Amino acid sequence: LSTSSIDLSQVAFADNHAHALLREQPATPEVFRRHFAEAHSPVVAGEHVGTAVHYRWALRQLGSLLDVAPTEEAVLAARAEASLEMYARRLIVAAGTSHLLLDEGFPHPNLGYSTAEMEAMLRIRIGRMLRIETLVQELIVRHGTWPEVVAGFDAALADAQERGYVALKSIACYRTGLAIERVADDEAARVFPALRAEAERAGSVRLASKPAIDFFVWRAARFAADHGLPFQFHTGYGDPDLDLRLANPLHLRPLFEDASLQEVPIVLLHASYPYTAEAAYLAAVYPNAYMDIAFSLPPLDRVELNHILHIALGVAPASKIMCSSDGVGIPEHYWLGAVRARLCLGQVLGRLVEDDEIDRRQAEEMGRLLLQGNALRVYRL
Ligand SMILES: [Zn+2]
Repeated sequence: LSTSSIDLSQVAFADNHAHALLREQPATPEVFRRHFAEAHSPVVAGEHVGTAVHYRWALRQLGSLLDVAPTEEAVLAARAEASLEMYARRLIVAAGTSHLLLDEGFPHPNLGYSTAEMEAMLRIRIGRMLRIETLVQELIVRHGTWPEVVAGFDAALADAQERGYVALKSIACYRTGLAIERVADDEAARVFPALRAEAERAGSVRLASKPAIDFFVWRAARFAADHGLPFQFHTGYGDPDLDLRLANPLHLRPLFEDASLQEVPIVLLHASYPYTAEAAYLAAVYPNAYMDIAFSLPPLDRVELNHILHIALGVAPASKIMCSSDGVGIPEHYWLGAVRARLCLGQVLGRLVEDDEIDRRQAEEMGRLLLQGNALRVYRL
């Protein structure tokens, strides 16, 4: 570590975007490795991830925390010595994580721990986030008519608000892209019979209809505006379900320009990578645009994460930038995200002090904002 680095080791981490742990934990190197890639094909984890810089760095960090050799076999043996509860708790304490905000739409509830179980296991504050597309899928299975689905949607949002959910989340990016248009009720209603037929045939629906997704995302945004609820959007790098060309956050301009949505904090997840400068621009010009930088997923090495952080801090005010792990499935992600966030932020802020852009006291204040302060304020934690 360079001596100019800002020490943020004492700042707690409010991890504002993550997912639950999986009930079935990896038992082999190949399955463990899959958690460090956004690929669908097993060939990527099987033959290639082992040579990735970010993965080698993760293994070395884990080896030093667990006091074992930085190899997959040694890390897997060490994690198997304790129960998942003990291991996850150890990592979350080492991470200095104060809050974890969970997108409850993934993993599927049959595969992942519930929010209550996560809270009992980790013993930190957990914030719940409602995934719009998953909710709509469930409603289409439950209801036979379009007006019932719409009424059920409104009721579910009101119920979530009452039960203290801290944010809404959309994965429109994964399904039909971020060019989300305003869709009239009758236009959206026209796609319902086909969706309902799929539900009756298969017992479930995979929502990939643009009029339906756009209609409900817009409706959710209106609800969020009425209640001052933050709205997270997946943007940029994700698994190959998405068309990265449609993951550019500039497509969200109609939402930012809509006068009725000015009270919705819109959080652009994953630094919109590789559209990070575009996300930072939006955060600089729209009062309700925020960007979140995830430090475990998408999998990037530390040099690239520093680069992203510098773009964000170089363009957007520090009060508009947040940090997360996007951890999912395994507890290592939560820990690595926190470790990397502090390390990268310390280095980038130190560099800005060295370049005489800010002074040390300002750098420390900005570090506290990005790691915790902004999330506490935006999500009212
Ligand atoms: Zn996520």
